Amino acid sequence: MPIHLNDLDVISEVGGLSSALIVPCYICPAVTVAAREKKPFIQLFKHFLKSAPYEKYIKALQSRLKEHGVKTEVFKSIPYHHWFMCMWTSGKRKKLRKRVEDYDAAIVLGCDSANETVRDAVKSTDCKVIEGMFVSGIMNAEMKFYWPGNISFENCKIVPISNQDLRDGV
Ligand code: SF4
Repeated sequence: MPIHLNDLDVISEVGGLSSALIVPCYICPAVTVAAREKKPFIQLFKHFLKSAPYEKYIKALQSRLKEHGVKTEVFKSIPYHHWFMCMWTSGKRKKLRKRVEDYDAAIVLGCDSANETVRDAVKSTDCKVIEGMFVSGIMNAEMKFYWPGNISFENCKIVPISNQDLRDGV
């Protein structure tokens, strides 16, 4: 099951900035938002492969940032194999590297690995990386299919990630 994430306070990080590129991972954060809102993750015949709760979440974030004087765009990932930010192709990473040059900040919606992908992309730019979410555990949930093409995650529990150092006796 995907990683479960919680929101971080992005607004407190954007003081003095006027533009930001929102860089969303489309797997764990999308499942997290759908599960916490108890809404379908995917409704194939309504939104095809877009997760409506996550799209709404991103739009709400954009509105809040706009109220604070920050213009935003979303770095989209349409093909399925680009949904996982931890496994982006080199082409996709290069594309991000080019896009971030035009923004004051990149707001990452994803786990530490997603943050790493973006940190790597902004290396030689002045773009600030803002973490929009943090890992709060691993999801344990029942995947349910409802006709005609809805996928939901129900009875969701958050399982803490065990500490590797402690297990190794360090
Ligand atoms: S980058 Fe992180 S949040 Fe995104 S799919 Fe990979 S593990 Fe999940």
